[in-house]
Amino acid sequence: MKIALFPGSFDPLTKGHVEIITKGLSFFDKVIVAIGRNSQKKYLFDIETRKQWISDVFKDFPSVEVVIYEGLTIDFCHKIGANFLLRGLRSCSDFEYEKGIAFANKEMNPQIETVFLLSSPATFNISSTIVRDIIVNNGDYSHFVPKEIKF
Ligand code: ADP
Repeated sequence: MKIALFPGSFDPLTKGHVEIITKGLSFFDKVIVAIGRNSQKKYLFDIETRKQWISDVFKDFPSVEVVIYEGLTIDFCHKIGANFLLRGLRSCSDFEYEKGIAFANKEMNPQIETVFLLSSPATFNISSTIVRDIIVNNGDYSHFVPKEIKF
């Protein structure tokens, strides 16, 4: 069984994330969306809220699971039996950042392969950072996130 872990902050989930998860389902039997808990990082939305939103968006997709994890992503993959790590790429800067992480992960666990999927022209400009900025400034964020995300 091909199981991919899609790790991230999802603060909040955007249409860019949804696209990567949906595309991932055509390659993997299961995509586990894993929300990292990092006590050093400040988030806009509570982790349980972020988890609930993702579960709501994918409620009709039995092959998508949503979990919260702590510690090294690669260790968590091993723990839950995921053989692939899924990440999205929007730009060269994403690639530069991601290749460092993928290389380190490969060194630590050669059994787990990182797979990158490119975002489409419709989503490559969307980032959670921009969405958060729109939200805190009372802008219309609805273009960038799935309709289930409201507060
Ligand atoms: P992190 O804190 O790990 O960067 P994010 O929630 O920002 O977490 O992103 C999780 C994953 O989703 C990363 O692989 C990131 O590159 C990808 N991603 C984010 N936005 C998009 C987008 N618009 N298109 C494609 N991939 C995206």
